[in-house]
This record gives sequence, C-alpha cells and structure tokens, in this order.
Amino acid sequence: MENMIEIQNLNKTYKLKDAEPTVAVDNMCLTIGKGEFLAIEGVSGSGKSTLLNMIGTLDVPTAGSIRIADNEITKMSARKLAIFRNEFIGFVLQDFALIPYNTGYENIEVPLLFTKKKLNRREAIYEAAEKVGITKLLKQRVNTMSGGQKQRVAIARALVNQPQIILADEPTGALDSKTKKDIVDLLRHIADEGKTVVMVTHDEKAASVADRIITISDGRIVAEK
Ligand code: ADP
Ligand code: MG
Repeated sequence: MENMIEIQNLNKTYKLKDAEPTVAVDNMCLTIGKGEFLAIEGVSGSGKSTLLNMIGTLDVPTAGSIRIADNEITKMSARKLAIFRNEFIGFVLQDFALIPYNTGYENIEVPLLFTKKKLNRREAIYEAAEKVGITKLLKQRVNTMSGGQKQRVAIARALVNQPQIILADEPTGALDSKTKKDIVDLLRHIADEGKTVVMVTHDEKAASVADRIITISDGRIVAEK
C-alpha cells in the first residue's frame, strides 16, 4: 500500500504558565496507507485529539515531521497550510460543529466557499449528500435533525471538497448505538472507496470496523492490532 501520511518523531508539548509542561504526543512514529481506515483508541487525555489535530494541520507540532502525500506540512506557511487543509482534509467531530439555523445544503457548502478547486457547487453538494444518504434533508435546518442526520450532514461537508483524507474525532460519541453503527459503516464505505480515514474512538465496536487499531497512552503508541 502506498503511504498517505508519514509521521516521524512527532512531539507536542504544551507549556502553560506556572505549570509543568504536558507532553501530549511523545516522539511518535506512524505511517498510514492510502485508502487505509485507521482507528486510534486510548483513554481520555492520552493525546488522541492532539495527534489528529496535528495531522489535520490545525495544531502545530513542537518537533518532528508529518508528510502528507509527500508534502512536509510542518514546514508550510500558515497561508499554504490553509489551502492545503482545504484541499486534502475533511474533518468530522463529535459535536458535528454545524451551523444550527442553516440548512443541510448551506452547511455542506461551507468548504466550497474557500476552495481553490474547480468544482460545480451544486453538483458537489448533491454528490456528497447522496453519498451519505441525505438528499431529502438538504433544505431542512440542521437544528431540526436527529444526531445521526446531523453527523451525516457533517460527513457530507467533510467530503464535499473531495479531499483524500477524512479525520474523525469521536464521530460516534454523541450517538445512540444503532446510529453509531450506521455512521461507522459509512466511514468504512468511504475508506473502501479510496479515502484515507483516521478515526479517534472510545468505542471498541466502532474501532473493530477499521483495518488497523492503534492504542495510545501518554502520547505513545502502546499497542497495535
Ligand atoms: P484525548 O483526545 O486523548 O482525550 P488530548 O489530545 O485532548 O487527549 O490531550 C492530551 C493532553 O494534552 C492532556 O493532558 C491535555 O490536558 C493536554 N492538552 C490538550 N490540549 C491542550 C491545550 N490547548 N493546552 C494545554 N494542554 C492541552
Ligand atoms: Mg480528544
């Protein structure tokens, strides 16, 4: 398998005033293949979100290297990073992070407002909505939707720019067990279609759908299966 993400000796240390520094990610090495579905497990505070946010270029490493599709992202300027992020990465979060009084359509449209990719907006939105099964909800405000429907809108928004990588931070954390399974199956399907999916989860059942599961403890990988 071709590599999509190559992480070498990655470190993130938070230094707060009047406190001991916190090593959130500790000298981590990790390679993620193109089209791979990787699950990251670990107790709260183990560094999962910090790792995911650094891969997603939202958080800057203290040291180490992250190469994504052969681009060294730790050396990019903020301006280049914003363009890179928009092109390569779609985010899915536990609390959906949608605009509540806007429609499904308007929420899915957001990344297209900033993209440099030449996409037909309407077509891209309908294609993403169809992929996650919510074309009927496009005109509905998201504050009137169920949790599972909201997460589908959020996944459509993550897909709409046709990024190569989907990063999901506890995407099933706010959902009931039936809906959880549907959302994880949807992420599985997205990986099967060739996207690289990295999912942080507490849920063993959710993780079991992945190609590979790593466990993180105190910022280090302590198990892999
Ligand atoms: P997880 O997602 O596994 O629950 P996090 O990556 O959020 O863990 O946090 C890892 C460690 O880094 C924790 O000790 C947390 O308190 C600390 N941390 C995370 N973000 C910050 C921040 N912005 N400032 C200071 N400490 C942080
Ligand atoms: Mg977290």
